[in-house]
Amino acid sequence: MLTEQHVGATAEPTLRDLSDALITVYGTDYGVHSPTSISRFTDMTRQAAAYRDRRVLLAGDAAHVHAPDGGQGLNTGVQDAVNLGWKLAQVVNETSPESFLDTYHAERHPVGARVLRNTMAQVALRRPDDRIKALRDTMSELLSMDEPRRRFAAMMSNLDIHYDLGDGHPLLGRRMPDLDLVTANGPLRVFTLLHDGRPVLLNFGEAGGVDITPWADRVQLIDAEHVGTWELPALGAVTAPTAVLIRPDGYVAWVGDPTQLGLADALTTWLGPPTAA
Ligand SMILES: Cc1cc2nc3c(=O)[nH]c(=O)nc-3n(C[C@H](O)[C@H](O)[C@H](O)COP(=O)(O)OP(=O)(O)OC[C@H]3O[C@@H](n4cnc5c(N)ncnc54)[C@H](O)[C@@H]3O)c2cc1C
Repeated sequence: MLTEQHVGATAEPTLRDLSDALITVYGTDYGVHSPTSISRFTDMTRQAAAYRDRRVLLAGDAAHVHAPDGGQGLNTGVQDAVNLGWKLAQVVNETSPESFLDTYHAERHPVGARVLRNTMAQVALRRPDDRIKALRDTMSELLSMDEPRRRFAAMMSNLDIHYDLGDGHPLLGRRMPDLDLVTANGPLRVFTLLHDGRPVLLNFGEAGGVDITPWADRVQLIDAEHVGTWELPALGAVTAPTAVLIRPDGYVAWVGDPTQLGLADALTTWLGPPTAA
């Protein structure tokens, strides 16, 4: 990776440009040859004001661009698409109202904004200036401590995303951990249940004690046990829930007791109204 003296070049960079730039910085081009690809990028930082305007939806770099520090762009873009895909399918299949698509912007725009903020901070920290170096050293000191390092690692890996789905159990709005489960069909991992791209209701309470007949065509109901702790990135151990509703994108939409009324509301919100008997 080389920094050019001037920004604004519009032509595709050539092997000659790369060779010249290497010689300028290192005094040699190391005999560079046969590149698979050469590309130019900047620390341009922009985010679309709205990820949805009626039938137009933006995801990936079309919605947010930033410096590549921390390798977060593709991860963020793929998660946009995974957040949007199942919602779009439900609206197209008319199981959810069109307004359901607004949750896409509500959930993903703050995530993109945070990536822009942390990449801008990382670009600033790279500047060759004594005061910035002092700040860089201070940050390094901070990140040598367990707690800040855990938090930053969870942020940079996008594993700490928390969609605002209201108050409640710490799992609500967070990514479901890939726990080992014991079920009537034997042991399995949570993420294998998500391979079909369908929501999952995991019942850790009394087996057979949950009736979701009006949504049975849309959600997999699994009676399960998990032996061990429930651990979330950055947060650590959390209380074991009685039941969780996991969206097709792997985020927890509801946590609670499946015999209570809240489950029907959550199923209606996330999967659409009940099917008439
Ligand atoms: C140097 C560098 C390193 C990076 N490293 C990482 C990393 O380690 N990890 C990570 O997660 N991310 C990384 N990224 C970011 C990542 O590459 C991007 O976030 C990701 O490629 C964006 O994917 P996208 O599909 O949204 O957009 P793009 O990859 O830009 O795809 C858009 C496509 O649309 C096409 N297109 C544009 N206009 C039109 C049109 N009018 N009609 C038809 N087609 C059109 C384009 O040709 C292109 O093929 C890095 C980026 C850079 C520059």
